[in-house]
Amino acid sequence: MQLQTSLSIIQQLASEKQEENNAFVSFLKQQDAATIDEEVYALNQTIEPKIDCTSCGNCCKSLMINVREEEADRVASRLNLNRQQFDETYLEKGSSDLMVINTIPCHFLAENKCSIYEDRFAGCREFPALHLPHFKNRLFTVMMHYDRCPIIFNVMEELKLKTGFL
Ligand code: SF4
Ligand code: SF4
Repeated sequence: MQLQTSLSIIQQLASEKQEENNAFVSFLKQQDAATIDEEVYALNQTIEPKIDCTSCGNCCKSLMINVREEEADRVASRLNLNRQQFDETYLEKGSSDLMVINTIPCHFLAENKCSIYEDRFAGCREFPALHLPHFKNRLFTVMMHYDRCPIIFNVMEELKLKTGFL
């Protein structure tokens, strides 16, 4: 299995494969959900350890990060700030309860590493979420990140072969 880790090549391939990927999404929707979950889980187990996130960091450079109250408390305390100081510096709050980190790339990315790694947010821990069940229900989101995340790109390309789509 040859993995592609160059973000520029991945972005180029993603634009060339748009039609193929639309067809693949339609194909996957017809497949058995549990079988696809098993295949994605196994591919992720093989591929994720072979990709060095510290030389990529692209999710931290390009995603909007949701923050929960208890997470904000934890990181504020780590940074020796009170919540008001933390919120004013790092968060944007809309009219709903939703809070997000107020910069992209994320404030906490330093030399391609997370400077608050042990206290990072749930969305950061989860991404790219290929270990989770119900993959078919998340196809739109997964494909949204296909050209951004080398793990997703390589898992999807291998899945095309594994499922017999290609
Ligand atoms: S908190 Fe850390 S892992 Fe999450 S986006 Fe920021 S730098 Fe990345
Ligand atoms: S999870 Fe994906 S986008 Fe984020 S650093 Fe790792 S390979 Fe890059």
